[in-house]
Amino acid sequence: MIELESVDFKYPGNSTNILEDFNLTVEDGEFLCVIGHSGCGKSTLLRLVAGLDLPQKGEIRIDGSPITGPGAERTIVFQQYSLFPWLTVKKNVLFALKKSGKYGKKEANARAELFLEKTGLRDHMDKYPYQLSGGMRQRTAIARALALDSPFLLLDEPFGALDTKIRKELQTLLKDLWEKGEQKKTVIFVTHDLDEAMIMGSRIVFIRDGKVRHEKRIDSGINCCCRDDLGQADCLQLKEELARWYE
Ligand code: ADP
Repeated sequence: MIELESVDFKYPGNSTNILEDFNLTVEDGEFLCVIGHSGCGKSTLLRLVAGLDLPQKGEIRIDGSPITGPGAERTIVFQQYSLFPWLTVKKNVLFALKKSGKYGKKEANARAELFLEKTGLRDHMDKYPYQLSGGMRQRTAIARALALDSPFLLLDEPFGALDTKIRKELQTLLKDLWEKGEQKKTVIFVTHDLDEAMIMGSRIVFIRDGKVRHEKRIDSGINCCCRDDLGQADCLQLKEELARWYE
């Protein structure tokens, strides 16, 4: 479980809080999508949960323990592919697995291959990032994050830089891997795209003026319905409701 309790956060040198008396609980196995106007603090929220920044006030806990910095139980994926350009696809994944210290050489190798297979990169394992399309690079980042098998996955607009077709493919892939995981990961997924939130989220929260202002649980049937055809009545109705949050 991830808990943020009465959190205040401002960037050094700034006078205004980005998050103020911010409260949010993310239950185990939730796929939480975070939406809100640009600049409302979505990425800041993820950075705080990742332990990359620390709040001035309040507490953030993972399974009851206060966060004091980054930890192996949390993996963050950014919009910009954070791959090492001098390592091949497979070696990028292996490097992270080695660094985690969780896997022996043989096991790490098998895991890297397994997750590259699952993400459709089997034939590209020995390529360097510059030889890949944007979609494939982001697939590698996702494969790496999933192979690490940390229970908490923090995704900051991971598909934001991709074109619609590739984005849809990766949304389906990620949701399938999340659904089929032996133990469902707890995901916080930041997006500015309502359609994406409707396809992916088991809950959607809306941030404005430093706080969660709206939230809605989404049935998995609605996720599927939106994935198949965003023009269906249930999806249009949900989208209208979410759009009203921005008014
Ligand atoms: P969002 O992800 O919702 O677009 P961010 O969390 O990135 O918003 O940013 C929230 C606010 O904090 C914005 O006004 C942004 O300009 C500001 N901000 C983000 N990063 C920094 C930083 N490193 N230093 C100062 N201000 C920042």
